[in-house]
Amino acid sequence: MIVSLLTIGNELLKGATINTNASWIGKNLFKVGAQLNKQITVKDNHSAIISALNYLFENKPDLVIITGGLGPTADDITRETLFEYFGANAILDEFYWKELSDYFEKKLKKPISENNRSQALVPDIGEIVPNPVGSARGFKFKKDNTTFFSLPGVPLEMKEMITSSIIPWINDHNPIVLKQIKIRTSGKPESAIATIIEPILNEYEHYEYGFFPSAYGVDIIVTGIDEGTLNEIDQKITFAIPELIFTKSDQNIENVIVKLLAKNNRTLSTAESCTGGLIGHRITQVSGSSSVYHGGIISYSNEVKEKQLKVKHDTLMSHGAVSEETAKEMASGVRLALSADIGLSITGIAGPTGGTPDKPVGLVYIGYSDKEITFGKKLLFGKNRSLNKIRSSQAALNLLYKELMKDI
Ligand code: ATP
Ligand code: MG
Repeated sequence: MIVSLLTIGNELLKGATINTNASWIGKNLFKVGAQLNKQITVKDNHSAIISALNYLFENKPDLVIITGGLGPTADDITRETLFEYFGANAILDEFYWKELSDYFEKKLKKPISENNRSQALVPDIGEIVPNPVGSARGFKFKKDNTTFFSLPGVPLEMKEMITSSIIPWINDHNPIVLKQIKIRTSGKPESAIATIIEPILNEYEHYEYGFFPSAYGVDIIVTGIDEGTLNEIDQKITFAIPELIFTKSDQNIENVIVKLLAKNNRTLSTAESCTGGLIGHRITQVSGSSSVYHGGIISYSNEVKEKQLKVKHDTLMSHGAVSEETAKEMASGVRLALSADIGLSITGIAGPTGGTPDKPVGLVYIGYSDKEITFGKKLLFGKNRSLNKIRSSQAALNLLYKELMKDI
């Protein structure tokens, strides 16, 4: 099923409103087997709307969804433009006009404005799409084999109308429901992952794939019809990069870790320098973390590292605060100080200033300590401070994840 979307609104192009309608519609249509194949955003402007409709119609889509510009104000011109495009005459729906007037008088306790009259205009060809939560009703038109639905831009109203009118329409038109697998990775950049994975994915002609990188890692999403084939692709990817995968769900790594800690019956404490508590924040975002997370120490200064974490003065003097030795002592120190099974630490230079030739901006050490082992790991990120904080926290959580998986 070919589906196109036209979102209308000056504010969407100015950047004042994020086009959440487009992402919501894409996601929710996909679930019922209707993939968006084109999406256009135009201003509340007559010729822009007409040319967008012509452009989308060229592809002969089964369905075109239009959102925005059905309100009562002068800038809302979608209705009249659509009537013109489909050659429809506007008729005043007396019954709806009375309903709307009564609603204003009785519920809103104010007289209805003449502007609202436009919301009672219906086309002599085409149909009305009911709006269960607002006054702007939608329209349905047909041109050749393409069905057009026009909905208000207000996200709440749009969602209700997609659910009550458009999804039933899609279900009646035999959609092919696609399935997808999602594999979340951390530890290697997109290009490195693609080099390994693309030869596998290219064997499957009718299966679409994408790599979605962020500061947290790279998600691999594969879409196709047959579940068995998707499982086969999943297995091949897992075999190729087992050390990079932390989940095959939508969960973040901190959710996975809290579950693993609970399952392994182990507790965690953290000592953070350059991340300033970000790991603690992420862990405590997870409901149920209180049973596995004892707490953390934000040891930004050397003094706190020495006094609270018992990092040796000698270590700080000879190796420096940003060093593998310090990271290790921070991890074991916080484990003992907060009586947890595991201590996890981070020390680094988040930047953009503060680097030296020996210890450049982006240099980070992670420490891990439990009863049996204590070790550190060196990493080198870029110059962006907030990105370095996120990437360091992700690397530390990833390292913890791998250690916890050894106990499974
Ligand atoms: P109304 O009756 O409220 O005027 P309308 O159909 O005219 O409805 P718009 O005027 O286009 O809709 O938008 C109404 C509200 O919905 C605005 O706050 C706008 O920012 C928001 N909105 C419109 N389109 C989108 C979109 N694509 N994504 C997110 N929000 C949107
Ligand atoms: Mg409006």
